[in-house]
Amino acid sequence: MENNHVTQLEINLSALKHNYHYLKNKTQQGTKTLAVVKAFAYGLEAETIALELEKEGVDYFGVAYADEGIRLRKKGIKTPILVLHAQPSNYALLHQYHLEPNLYSLHTLRSFLAFAQQENLREYPVHFKFNSGLNRLGFDPEEVSDIVALVTNNSHIRLTSVFSHIAASEDLNEKEFTENQIDKFNGIVRQLRSELKHHFVVHMSNTSGVINYPNAHFDMVRLGIGLYGFGNDEEETQQLENVAVLKSVVSQIRTVKAGESISYNRALITNKEEKIAVIPLGHADGFSRPMGCGNGYVTINGQKAYTAGNVCMDMILVNVTNIDCQEGDPVVIFDNQQTVEEFATICNTISYEILTAISQRIKRSFVKTPHSVL
Ligand SMILES: *Cc1c(COP(=O)(O)O)cnc(C)c1O
Repeated sequence: MENNHVTQLEINLSALKHNYHYLKNKTQQGTKTLAVVKAFAYGLEAETIALELEKEGVDYFGVAYADEGIRLRKKGIKTPILVLHAQPSNYALLHQYHLEPNLYSLHTLRSFLAFAQQENLREYPVHFKFNSGLNRLGFDPEEVSDIVALVTNNSHIRLTSVFSHIAASEDLNEKEFTENQIDKFNGIVRQLRSELKHHFVVHMSNTSGVINYPNAHFDMVRLGIGLYGFGNDEEETQQLENVAVLKSVVSQIRTVKAGESISYNRALITNKEEKIAVIPLGHADGFSRPMGCGNGYVTINGQKAYTAGNVCMDMILVNVTNIDCQEGDPVVIFDNQQTVEEFATICNTISYEILTAISQRIKRSFVKTPHSVL
């Protein structure tokens, strides 16, 4: 069904391209790139973004779950897709759509080997993830010999890459810990190389790893938030172009007399007459409740209109007493990275969550406007 919501998330594909090349240029020539497009490409829109990045020559896509990869295949994406959090119950689907599982434990490895044998797969590409300090998914370094015993001379699978994930790549106060993670991972790779004697790709860095740890670029880097305009660092973010613009229109304007209350639970009682505008997006759309009661704002005709009273599920009320505006006027929720960072601070979170929280009922649209002519 056609999505006719007036609130729209506009995605700038030229900015995406700029960010991709900016980050890729931070790596040595020949370093591969994996574009992370999990969670609807961080709430933007994975299919169009993946098609665009495929044209730019990205080497791999990364998704969290099988269904995210299936959606890309159904749109015609041919590039290899790594499923970061593959689950044994989805192995048949992975195979059907030629998605490549991350195997992260002896349990997932054994069950994939059993599946591969049963289906008589030949050299099916798989990836092994190691825990080097994040203590999330991954084999522990001590499991290398068990892994080697299981995969040596097994022609059903082909170990395509070995990877790990840095726990605090954006936090330079944790440099010592991170260097230790990199050393540990190097040790694992060395051991696997000497025992398995065949080529596999090695990768460890997310966006902040690309920026802060050139010694952790290895053969491939995994680009997520940076593609979408955020460098986890003010200076880096300035080098990236803004990809996402969230905008809407004024639904209604009303005058509220002194002494009346505004929105749910009467959180705001006016002490003078106020002009209030109703905007069609609410906490169900990712405009989170901490943004209510004057903490957050939208921009109407170039002026900040702060929220009045509580955020509702499908709408917010904003104070436009001093703003010249009318019903039907355009509203900008955010159109630059600084505002998203500001909203993240208000909501006690990070840019990642502000983007991924933008609900799927908000219409996505695409523009290809080079930054310089915006
Ligand atoms: C999400 C994710 C990334 C991307 O991280 P960014 O900080 O967004 O660049 C990279 N690797 C793994 C394993 C991830 O889960």
